[in-house]
Amino acid sequence: MVEKKLTENLNTKAVLAAISSGMGQFQLEEVFRLMDLPAVSQKIFKRTERLLGQKWKEDLDNVIQVNGKEAQDLAISDGRISEDGIPYTRVILDAGWDKRTKGHDYNAKAGYAIIFDYYTQKVLFVSSRNKFCYICSCARTKKVPPPDHFCYLNWNGSSSGMEQDMMVEGFVLSTLIHRLRYLEFIGDGDSSVHQPLIERVTYGKQIVKHECSNHVTKNFTGDLYSLAKNKNQLSKS
Ligand SMILES: [Zn+2]
Repeated sequence: MVEKKLTENLNTKAVLAAISSGMGQFQLEEVFRLMDLPAVSQKIFKRTERLLGQKWKEDLDNVIQVNGKEAQDLAISDGRISEDGIPYTRVILDAGWDKRTKGHDYNAKAGYAIIFDYYTQKVLFVSSRNKFCYICSCARTKKVPPPDHFCYLNWNGSSSGMEQDMMVEGFVLSTLIHRLRYLEFIGDGDSSVHQPLIERVTYGKQIVKHECSNHVTKNFTGDLYSLAKNKNQLSKS
């Protein structure tokens, strides 16, 4: 019994170490093989990975609840309260993709979004969209129904629509989860989330956007490079 618990504990730590360092089951097996240790089987690796994922999700939910309370308390103490009694704050939006994209050439298969409170600098919302599942994809190729599996597919729209959908979700949930409105946000210059927020969030018309200075600089630099590239064309005109 003690030995079983110890093995389970070691397996969990080994899988955690593998995930944290970007390794998969195959790489972990290779490391163990070179160390003359019994490898963690694919079945145990997958099961442990799922359990760790659930635990992380629970911990993250708890942290987000605590962060929301802190942001709400600070808004109240600063007097940032709407006429109907709901506190409001300014947030910072960020999104990422499973691959690097340039301009509007978005074709990522997965994306995530994070909303931070500007004043506490703490996370208030995290979400992800995934339009690819290996198991579902294999089943589709073979024209058979997919087997019972833990499927992460939750998006079938365009890649560029992922960011808008996740941000709208975050703003819609702001009053439900944190009893807080996000009336100002700082986003990047390329972001096209403002209009969907106005249209799909109950307090959308009050939401004001501020440009992120990092992205303003980045876009300005990009525009200068474009000008320099086209200078011959410009001098002719
Ligand atoms: Zn699937």
